[in-house]
Amino acid sequence: MASKRVLIVGGVAGGATCAARLRRLDEDAEILVFERGPYVSFANCGLPYYVGGVIHEEAKLLVATPNLFLDWFEVEMRTRSEVLSIDRQAQTITVRDLDREEEYTESYDQLVLSPGAAPIRPLWPGIDLPGIFTLRSVPDSRQIRNWIETRNPRTAVVVGAGFIGLEMAENLAHRGLNVTVVELANQVMPPFDPEIAAYAAQQLAAKGVTLILGDGVTAFEPSSDGSLQVRTQKGAAFGADLVVLAIGVRPETQLARNAGLEIGERGGIRVDSQMRTSDPRIWAVGDAVEVRNYVTGQWELVPLAGPAQRQGRVAADAICGRDTKFRGVQGTAVCGFFGITVAMTGATEKSLRCAGIEDFQGVYLHPGHHVGYYPGAHVIHLKLLYRKSDGLLLGAQAAGERGVERRIDVIAQAIQRQSTVFDLEEAELCYAPQFGSAKDPVNFAGMIGANAVRGDFELAPWEELRSSSAFLLDVREPKEFSAGAIPGSVNIPLGQLRRRIKELPASKEIWVMCGVGQRAYYACRILARHGLRARDLSGGLQTYSAMYPHGAPKPGG
Ligand code: FAD
Repeated sequence: MASKRVLIVGGVAGGATCAARLRRLDEDAEILVFERGPYVSFANCGLPYYVGGVIHEEAKLLVATPNLFLDWFEVEMRTRSEVLSIDRQAQTITVRDLDREEEYTESYDQLVLSPGAAPIRPLWPGIDLPGIFTLRSVPDSRQIRNWIETRNPRTAVVVGAGFIGLEMAENLAHRGLNVTVVELANQVMPPFDPEIAAYAAQQLAAKGVTLILGDGVTAFEPSSDGSLQVRTQKGAAFGADLVVLAIGVRPETQLARNAGLEIGERGGIRVDSQMRTSDPRIWAVGDAVEVRNYVTGQWELVPLAGPAQRQGRVAADAICGRDTKFRGVQGTAVCGFFGITVAMTGATEKSLRCAGIEDFQGVYLHPGHHVGYYPGAHVIHLKLLYRKSDGLLLGAQAAGERGVERRIDVIAQAIQRQSTVFDLEEAELCYAPQFGSAKDPVNFAGMIGANAVRGDFELAPWEELRSSSAFLLDVREPKEFSAGAIPGSVNIPLGQLRRRIKELPASKEIWVMCGVGQRAYYACRILARHGLRARDLSGGLQTYSAMYPHGAPKPGG
């Protein structure tokens, strides 16, 4: 006889992981998975690349099949089976067989919900016109591919410049379409801070994507030639032969709500650290739950595959009596498009402010992904956030063509271990010329932060430069200075600083700048030894100009 009967709703990331883990822990349990769609355990993350033709065969998206689950794990996967309701008193669920159009009930000892999150599809006029797609499932991706292959579209509008939107922009461009991306926020990749998102925007523009920021889509209209007109809040209109909506996802909580399970403040199913819902026999994992942010302590919805799978394992462990706990989410994420990689982990400046956390410092740096003397070095634009008072790591974001995700992964683990900038300073990482440098970007970030926490120098934030009344000292070479400088700044190259120090005002704070902040740091040390109050413009003119791509405004103006 079975030790317990476990039913699982949703057979993809969280649900399939939970089922397989349950079997490994309990050979006697009866495990049934109900999946509304035609496939289980498919690669959602690969869907944009199937649309783009990078992944050629649809079958490659199917990581595991119901037969494999039955043979290897003795788990029964019922596809095209939608769970309609839960009777918590009777411990049963009602299931609709979508092929036979029949309903039946199944009883459970334990029930796991992993229904995921659905793409948001607002009730905008014209939303149901042909040619407007969202992307969640294999059939969705097949529809978009068919549309491309049968209609031969030339223009596409992607609504939303988040992870999925930009992956789709790349894949549609790969198919030869002219792509316009419309984003309501004033930046691409809204979860990122603007200093890092700016590099992603630059890359999109350089690759010919038309980027409309700070404007939202309001309606779609049919055109006489069979294409669509996409209308925006600011009155613009864009022609499109194909539209992809990628404006976020909403947790699928209807089942849980109808069953009276507790829903949290962000609209996800509320669970404890073992993924138990407000009913001790019902568990929930994945995109449908809200979880604590490991850094800020806030409840968050984090629709990512890694947390969904870890949560599936935690729920299986807990059902089998183990004391495993989910540690919370850091939001470690990566996205690549048009040759650039952007990645993040932990808190951003935005999320810290949102959580009311003010004790933080951000540093910016722009090191090469490997030593400059070895051919092919690419810059990594990196922002590190740490607690100003003691250097505890809070978050990091980076953009660049190579080596970005490796640095963010290292910092992600450091954050999970509650490490500090001093630990990054000491981190011993791989080095040979083609891979990194003896002082890796991660070490560099730690050193800048550690120097600042120790009081060896002070940072000046780029945001305050415009309103600052400080004396602005540019320590680059005259040739660099004449090629472009902040209006009102005075040029004394680093090599001349010691002998020209008398030219600097003793009564004023001096903000020192250079290309990326390194020479300015050396200059700050010299000035400090001469009793002058100096601060280093964090990230140098590189960060400042990324924020003002159309020309730096005059400080004080
Ligand atoms: P899902 O994997 O969505 O599975 C839920 C399943 O439950 C669905 O198949 C649904 O049909 C089924 N279901 C829902 N309700 C019922 C019901 N009542 N009865 C029966 N079945 C039901 N994450 C990353 O970390 N990296 C990426 O690169 C990445 N790329 C992505 C690209 C795309 C296009 C998409 C859509 C997602 C991507 N994600 C990525 C997110 C990642 O796929 C999700 O976070 C993860 O799949 C969530 O797992 P889940 O089990 O909660 O939900």
